Amino acid sequence: MTGDPRRSVPRTDAVLAEPPVAAAAARLGRELVKSAVQAAQQRVRDGDLPPGDVVAAVLGALPGTASSLRPVLNATGVLVHTNLGRAPLSPAAVDAVAAASGTTDVELDLRTGRRGPRGEGALSALLDAVPAAEAALVVNNCAAALALVATALGGELVIARGELVEIGDGFRIPDLLVSTGARLREVGTTNRVSLADYTDALGPGTGAVLKVHPSNFVVRGFTRAVEVDELAPALAGTGVPLVADVGSGLLRPHPLLPGEPDLQTTLAAGADLALCSGDKLLGGPQAGIVLGRAELVQRLRRHPLYRALRVDKTTLAALEATLRGPVPPVRQMLDADLGGLRSRATAVAEALRVAGVRAAVVGSTARVGGGGAPEFPLPSVAVALDVRFAEPLRLGPVPVVGYVDEDRTLLDLRSLAPDDDRALTAAVLEVARRWT
Ligand SMILES: *Cc1c(COP(=O)(O)O)cnc(C)c1O
Repeated sequence: MTGDPRRSVPRTDAVLAEPPVAAAAARLGRELVKSAVQAAQQRVRDGDLPPGDVVAAVLGALPGTASSLRPVLNATGVLVHTNLGRAPLSPAAVDAVAAASGTTDVELDLRTGRRGPRGEGALSALLDAVPAAEAALVVNNCAAALALVATALGGELVIARGELVEIGDGFRIPDLLVSTGARLREVGTTNRVSLADYTDALGPGTGAVLKVHPSNFVVRGFTRAVEVDELAPALAGTGVPLVADVGSGLLRPHPLLPGEPDLQTTLAAGADLALCSGDKLLGGPQAGIVLGRAELVQRLRRHPLYRALRVDKTTLAALEATLRGPVPPVRQMLDADLGGLRSRATAVAEALRVAGVRAAVVGSTARVGGGGAPEFPLPSVAVALDVRFAEPLRLGPVPVVGYVDEDRTLLDLRSLAPDDDRALTAAVLEVARRWT
């Protein structure tokens, strides 16, 4: 470059007026594009960028959307990964979110022109999916559902010591319950609790008996728990509601996940309320779902705190489409058969080898994850690469998150939608290309 580079720095207005840059500003917002222009101008001043390349540099630096959240390929083998946004929405749910994003009839009855019940479609989809429930309510997440139950039913909550669970990242269910002003009446010991422990603890101040599924650990050996079908008859006639937090949101029992409670069985066994997350094994948006007896659900709905916890139109749309639409991705991943995973991995490894990248197909172990289901190992298949791939794959234009096992980077295919295999292959090839 000749002369003073500062003289030849293209003016901000001129760059912003270039048609592709103006189009990007209309899509992403002027301020976001302007900061990309300023960054490119600085590179010209530093002598890093020829002035004629400013427009191309700006366009190349712009994000795909006006949000900094980016799509990531989940090759961790953890199906419901909290750090990766838990359940990916089904295409049907994504469409429903887009359709409901503008003005929508979430709380208006278009026939009468008057206010209607909020999110009725999602609620009736829940009731159709779980026939044992009389009524449904949707709040922000399962923690919100617990907070609402503890606040509205209040008083003393009877809970087994072995069910005082920490879900993850320091989130402890007993702390949440106590923060509402409810008192905990802990019964039994860490490993054992009996029916009499529960019934002896009941008194005039009892607000509810709470069962919390210990989602992320198991206690083995000399243990005893009291299940819903044993507790419910003992509580019948006492007027004390039995509330079960089942966590993961299975609608029905799943053959691969024995011991994982589901909503239909829990309510049919006599729980008065069952709570779960929307974005774990249910495969939908972040939400807390409350199902059960109409009178109790109505009490929660009428409590002032509900207003602070209720969900927006896009969540209701995504939840309804998850329940009514095609099988959501998380369920497809859970049900994917090993042979299919192996042929996908073989195809990916073959495409990499053809391009000169060393890749092997290996057996691996996937997990449900998300703190929402026990750590059941799910047999899976991974593509094994040199360990040095892990970081550049994470930092690439389409970030891929795998995991490092000893001296290899493993890309597990069970947590990845089959449609993403091509993008996964391309991302690995892109890293390899930069190395050669
Ligand atoms: C995951 C989990 C929660 C918390 O659910 P969020 O939807 O993340 O608030 C509560 N209880 C149990 C048993 C869980 O597994």
